[in-house]
Amino acid sequence: MRVKSICVAGIGYVGLTTGTCFADLGNRVCCVDVDRAKVQGLNSGELPIYEPGLEELVLRNHRAERLLFTTSYEEAMADADFVFIAVNTPSGANGEADLRYVNACARSIAETMTKPIVIVNKSTVPIGTGDWVANVVTQHLPEPIPFSVVSNPEFLREGSAVHDFLQPDRVVLGSSDSEAAAQVARLYLPLRCPILITDIRTAEMIKYASNAFLATRISFINEIASICQSLGADVKEVALGMGYDKRIGHAFLDAGLGWGGSCFPKDVRALAHMAAIHGCHPQLLRAVMEINHDQRRQVVQKLRDQLGSLYQKVVAILGLSFKPNTDDMRDAPSVEVIRLLQTEGAMVRAYDPVAASVAAKILPDVELCASAYEAARGADALVVATEWNEFKHLDLEKIRDSMRRPVVVDGRNIYEPSIMRQLGFTYQGIGRP
Ligand code: NAD
Repeated sequence: MRVKSICVAGIGYVGLTTGTCFADLGNRVCCVDVDRAKVQGLNSGELPIYEPGLEELVLRNHRAERLLFTTSYEEAMADADFVFIAVNTPSGANGEADLRYVNACARSIAETMTKPIVIVNKSTVPIGTGDWVANVVTQHLPEPIPFSVVSNPEFLREGSAVHDFLQPDRVVLGSSDSEAAAQVARLYLPLRCPILITDIRTAEMIKYASNAFLATRISFINEIASICQSLGADVKEVALGMGYDKRIGHAFLDAGLGWGGSCFPKDVRALAHMAAIHGCHPQLLRAVMEINHDQRRQVVQKLRDQLGSLYQKVVAILGLSFKPNTDDMRDAPSVEVIRLLQTEGAMVRAYDPVAASVAAKILPDVELCASAYEAARGADALVVATEWNEFKHLDLEKIRDSMRRPVVVDGRNIYEPSIMRQLGFTYQGIGRP
C-alpha cells in the first residue's frame, strides 16, 4: 500500500504531537506553521515546547525525512492525502471560540489544494464548524476540486501527549462522508483502540462535553472540599472513599486550586456561550466556572488569615505551569493567584522546574528563582500552585529555617497536614482539617 502523505497545519502541542506520531507510524508528514521562528527552530532540532518523550521522536523522524517542517502551504500540501487542522482556537471576548486561525488555515488549504483531499479538523471548535470550514474552503478554491471534511477532536493531555496520542482511550471521527471517515480511521488502525464514527456535530460536541465533564468533577470535589473545611472532614479521604466506587472512580477528584490550562477554561466558556446563544441555560457550567475562580480567591484568603495585610509581604509560589510535566502557562491557576496577590501589594517570587522562560514573558513583575529553596528564602509564606513531583521531595526543614515565617498554603494538597505541623509550619491545605 502507498505510504500516506499527511499535512498538519499548526505546530503546537497538538499539531507537533500528531505530526510526529503519524510519522512514527510510517506516514510521510509535512507540518506547516505561520510562525517562522518555530519552523526554523524545529528544522535545526529545537523543540518549541516541553513534552516528555517528544524530542527524541521528532529528531528520529526528522532525520529519517518522514517528518518535515515548513512555513509554505504549497510545500506542505503538495501530494497530501489528508490535511489535519491543528491551529489554536482561543477564547474570544465573550467566551466564544475565536475561529480566525481556523478561517485563515482553511483559506490557505483551499488556495494550495491541487488534488482531492480529506480535511480533518483536530482543533476544538464550536458545533457546526465542520460545515463552516467546508464553506470557507469551497469559497476560496480557485477551481472546483472534491474534498471532504472529517471532525477528529483530540483528547491528548499535555505532559503525556505522546503516550495519549499513541495509546488513546478512543478515536472520534465525525463526517457526512463515510468513505472519508473510513480513510481517516485507517490511519489510526495501528493504535488498536475503539474508533467511534458519527456525524460531524456529534463529534464536535463529544470534545466539549468531555472537557466540561472533567472540569465539573474537579469543581464538584472543590465544592465538597469547602464543605469539608467548614465541617472538619478531610476531602482527600473523602475523595479516596468515593473513588473506590466503580461508578465514580479516582480520576479528577483532587481538590485544590482548580483546573486551568489551554483547554478546560476556554472550552467550558465556549460551551456555555454556545448554549446561551442558542437559548439554553447552562447553569451547571456557570457554577463550575465560578467554583473554580473561588479556589484561587480562597488561597489568598488563607494567606490573609495568617499574615493579615498582604501589603509588602513576600510570597513564594512553587509551580507556575497549569499542571506538572508541561511548561504551558495558559490560564494557569498560578497566574490568577499571583495577580490577586499583587493587587494587594504582595511581592511575589516563584520557581517552576520548566516554565521559567514562558513565565518571564507573561509575569515580568515576578522574581523568578532558580530553585524552590531560593524562592522560599526570607519569604513570609509559600504557596504550592502546581504539584510537580520534586516539590514532594523537598528538604522541608531547610525550607522552614530559611523562611521569615513558616506559613505554607498547599494549593495541591501534596503534604500531610500532621507532618507539616510537626515540622513547625503553619500549614493549610484545601479542604483538610
Ligand atoms: P498551540 O497554540 O500550541 O499551537 C497552535 C499553532 O497553530 C501555533 O504554532 C500557531 O502559530 C499555529 N497557527 C495559527 N494559525 C495558523 C495558520 N493559519 N496556519 C498554520 N499554523 C497556524 O495550540 P494547541 O495547544 O496545539 O491546540 C490546538 C487545538 O487543539 C486547539 O483548538 C485546542 O483547543 C485543541 N486541543 C489542545 C490540547 C492541548 O492539550 N493543548 C488538547 C486537545 C485539543
